[in-house]
Amino acid sequence: MPEQKTIPFVDLARQFRSIETELTQAFLDVGRSGGYIMGDRLESFERKAADFLGVAHALGVADGSDALFLILKALGIGPGDEVITATNSFIASAWVIVAAGAKPVFADVRDDFNIDPDSVRAAVTPRTRAIIPVHLTGRPAPMDEINAIAQSHGLHVIEDAAQAIGARYHGKRVGGLGIAAGFSLHPLKNLGVYGDGGLITTNDDKLAAHLRKLRNHGLRNRDECELWGFNSRLDTLQAAFAEIKLARLDAWNARCRQIASTYREGLKDFVQVPVDQDWEECVYHNFVIRTEQRDALMAHLKDKGVDTRIHYPIPIHLQDAAKDLGYKAGDFPQAERFAKTMISLPIYPELDDEQVSWVVEAVKSYFA
Ligand SMILES: *Cc1c(COP(=O)(O)O)cnc(C)c1O
Repeated sequence: MPEQKTIPFVDLARQFRSIETELTQAFLDVGRSGGYIMGDRLESFERKAADFLGVAHALGVADGSDALFLILKALGIGPGDEVITATNSFIASAWVIVAAGAKPVFADVRDDFNIDPDSVRAAVTPRTRAIIPVHLTGRPAPMDEINAIAQSHGLHVIEDAAQAIGARYHGKRVGGLGIAAGFSLHPLKNLGVYGDGGLITTNDDKLAAHLRKLRNHGLRNRDECELWGFNSRLDTLQAAFAEIKLARLDAWNARCRQIASTYREGLKDFVQVPVDQDWEECVYHNFVIRTEQRDALMAHLKDKGVDTRIHYPIPIHLQDAAKDLGYKAGDFPQAERFAKTMISLPIYPELDDEQVSWVVEAVKSYFA
């Protein structure tokens, strides 16, 4: 057995060091330019992000939650409306609906942790206005089925693409598969900046024009305010950093997919592993395994120096914040079972092959 290793769940400083010369230069350029809000550097990043994602418009905003919230506001979704989303997600997928004044309605998930179209169909009521499928772990949600349900009921589909920048569904990048999408540029996401950041994408020109005003106080220009808006912009500095990282995103995502494939091959005889279907390209924001012996395996991995997490230990419908919505344990059996059996293994482009095999051997040694 080689010497004991420590594998942190994330190591953001390692990636920072690998590009710090370029980041420093961007800091100097923006600093010396004297323009720190909006401007050319933001527009340049937005254009490159739109090209990368294959959409007509990309708009920088303050964070991923705001991206979703502003889309809901721009679509006029509010009091009296219902919006369906997955109960196994980060809490922001739901609170943005509440913040918009609407009611979140939850749906269960399938084996790949993504929203279950049957559960969505069962959740539609006359008040439903939109569906927010989450591309959880970086894997595209079943968009064809979701879009078909939406079409037959006249609903909007808003992608929560916070975890999935660069992922592909039938050859197309996520972000252009519904009316609009929200991405997060939080440091932990696949394209993370050095603070909070977010991105809205859409192919709808009118919606994009509306969102450009909404994120900037409702201003049509410097002096004229067309509508009541918000202050939710991506800082120029963060946009400059994001542009540097965007150029490397495909390579980083490819490395995550390679690590995922090593994990999958090494672990498939011991635990449930995520599998890629041939129409999708998951970017592995998380690599989530499942086992009935979750807590014991997690403790064993900790002893072996492998740091793990659970995404997410409490389904949203069972959170205290959701009490008033009237859900109870047992309502979404898949998500509830996964909450007790999931473990996220460390996965990021900077993990080297030795670390990856250490993780594989650490899991295997539990079952030995
Ligand atoms: C991170 C995340 C968000 C929120 O993004 P922030 O930039 O942190 O506001 C929303 N939905 C999902 C699924 C996320 O993982």
